[in-house]
Amino acid sequence: MIDTINTDLITADGTLNIDRIREDFPILHQEVNGKPLVYFDNAATTQKPIQVVEALTAYYLNDNANIHRGIHTLAERATAAFEASRDAVKTSINAKEREEVIFTRGTTEGINLVASTWGLANLKAGDEIVVSAMEHHSNMVPWHMLAQRTKAVVKILPMNDAGELLVEAFDTIITSKTKMLACTHVSNTLGSINPIKELIAKAHAVGAITLIDGAQAVSHLDIDVQDLDADFYAFSAHKLYGPTGVGILYGKRAILEAMPPYQGGGEMISEVTYESCTYNELPYKFEAGTPNIADVIALKAAIDYINSIGKAAIRSYEHELLDYAVSKLKDIEGIRLIGTAKDKVSVQSFVFSDIHHQDLGIILDQEGVAIRTGHHCTQPLMGRLGVTGTSRASFAFYNTKEEIDQFIAAIYKAIKLFR
Ligand code: PLP
Repeated sequence: MIDTINTDLITADGTLNIDRIREDFPILHQEVNGKPLVYFDNAATTQKPIQVVEALTAYYLNDNANIHRGIHTLAERATAAFEASRDAVKTSINAKEREEVIFTRGTTEGINLVASTWGLANLKAGDEIVVSAMEHHSNMVPWHMLAQRTKAVVKILPMNDAGELLVEAFDTIITSKTKMLACTHVSNTLGSINPIKELIAKAHAVGAITLIDGAQAVSHLDIDVQDLDADFYAFSAHKLYGPTGVGILYGKRAILEAMPPYQGGGEMISEVTYESCTYNELPYKFEAGTPNIADVIALKAAIDYINSIGKAAIRSYEHELLDYAVSKLKDIEGIRLIGTAKDKVSVQSFVFSDIHHQDLGIILDQEGVAIRTGHHCTQPLMGRLGVTGTSRASFAFYNTKEEIDQFIAAIYKAIKLFR
């Protein structure tokens, strides 16, 4: 998307103008506990550029109205902006049709939607649902719930100690019994990028449907759902520098059309009588009730912002940050790096045998550094790794090497305190 590039933010040779980019993120310019804020919790949620906040404000100040039903000017303006956001998502993930883009509340709701509509309609006792060993609870629990209701079986794609899925196990786990392959594109705990194109092809070869959890992928990777041939692809706006409360569920038209609706209510119907009802066409069939209009509209501002830099440049800079952080982390005595896959995004987990991750997190916060500690909603993975939790630093394109220095110095301070 060369024509959308903002030469203020990125130079002709592809170098990010970090100082200029950081001006667009006012939240970063504050002190926490008397120290400059270092925000390394980007895998939990990303910060929002001022353009996103302004889009929210502009909607409420100028255009606030309910969408689709109104014929007055404000309703038409709000509807146009809402649907423009759908078009922006369609383009950014290369969906074939705009009707294949369903707005939800988040990744979690998208996955639950598929599990409870497609899943209940299609699974029976003995059918198998394959998930990976590194799934977030959002892509594990809905399948457990579905298995409990249908007596289907959940099977796990194993991984090695580095956090890479075992390719040699694909053919033994994905079999003619597999009806659903639900796998994360990128692990939130390990940062691993999974070979999902290969997995999707394997699943399709046995006639299974595929759902990809893209929550951690969308901020780092260019997503092309047609090239991946994913049947479903779910993600959250708040992890893509957009607002909370908005998710996207991409689904192939034919599959979405064959599925029963999720929730009943306004918007999702075609006709209602006292006796019965018929359902609306896509995408509205899956968008019951008044949606999160303002936040959906502001998502377009986030997509435009990311496009104005380009994911390739973002990823390359984030890798520089990751390599720099790892080179410093691995010199720290007693550290165990968790998640060392060859192909990964800028997320690094680590543990110390003698310092609890929560204690470390508290000390880092005192030093102005925000990281995430705990099981990261991946309890089964913690069991696989033999830990109860980790410390996780996750870097975004507005972070800097100087911030990594502050983070590393804070770890040394904690070590001095606890050892
Ligand atoms: N999947 C992965 C890999 C995640 O990292 C997350 C959030 O951390 C989710 C799913 C759930 O996203 P949300 O809470 O926005 O629904």
